[in-house]
Amino acid sequence: MTIREIRGSLKEHIVNDRFCSHCGSELTPKMAGGRERAACPKCGRTMFGRFSLGVGGLVEHAGRVLFVQRGENPGRGRWTIPGGYVEEDETPDQAVVREVFEETSLRTRAVSLLAIRNTLRGDDQNAYYVFKLDLEALPEIAVDGRETVDAKFFAPEEFDSLADLAPMSRWIAEHHSGDGLKLIDANGKLKPLAGSKWALFGIEE
Ligand SMILES: [Zn+2]
Repeated sequence: MTIREIRGSLKEHIVNDRFCSHCGSELTPKMAGGRERAACPKCGRTMFGRFSLGVGGLVEHAGRVLFVQRGENPGRGRWTIPGGYVEEDETPDQAVVREVFEETSLRTRAVSLLAIRNTLRGDDQNAYYVFKLDLEALPEIAVDGRETVDAKFFAPEEFDSLADLAPMSRWIAEHHSGDGLKLIDANGKLKPLAGSKWALFGIEE
């Protein structure tokens, strides 16, 4: 699929959405932001597209990097850094800590944001944030044996021995340098709008 075809199918989704995901009313076309979009005549919500957010965590210990082996499809048997999808009621840094714990039982803390990858695909646009995580306790790993069948720390010279290591995971393990964007304690200091909370990553001096 070319980018043009993906964009075309995304646009069709946006225009062809029939019902408001907020109030359930039938959507009608509306010009907004230079494009025709589906909009709700009742609650005013405009469908700006379908986006999903994934997270991954780089956890290092004694010069080795943590990879987990997937037990389910898509990508059964593949090694990746741990991670998953962000829920609507959590920030990305909270999501990655939760996912790492669910997959490995390791307690970690998100310290910085190392990379962002955006994928244009047929059903939505996916963003994937990669965090650097610090271990909060000794690395004693336990996996559930279903979703995750194995998890281990690997030295860089062992990466080639893994039959199926996700290229993005390998890239981040081999090429991250420095500390990335720091998680900044912004709430209160920068005053997000009432009723909202921020997860801010940036360079702060
Ligand atoms: Zn609505």
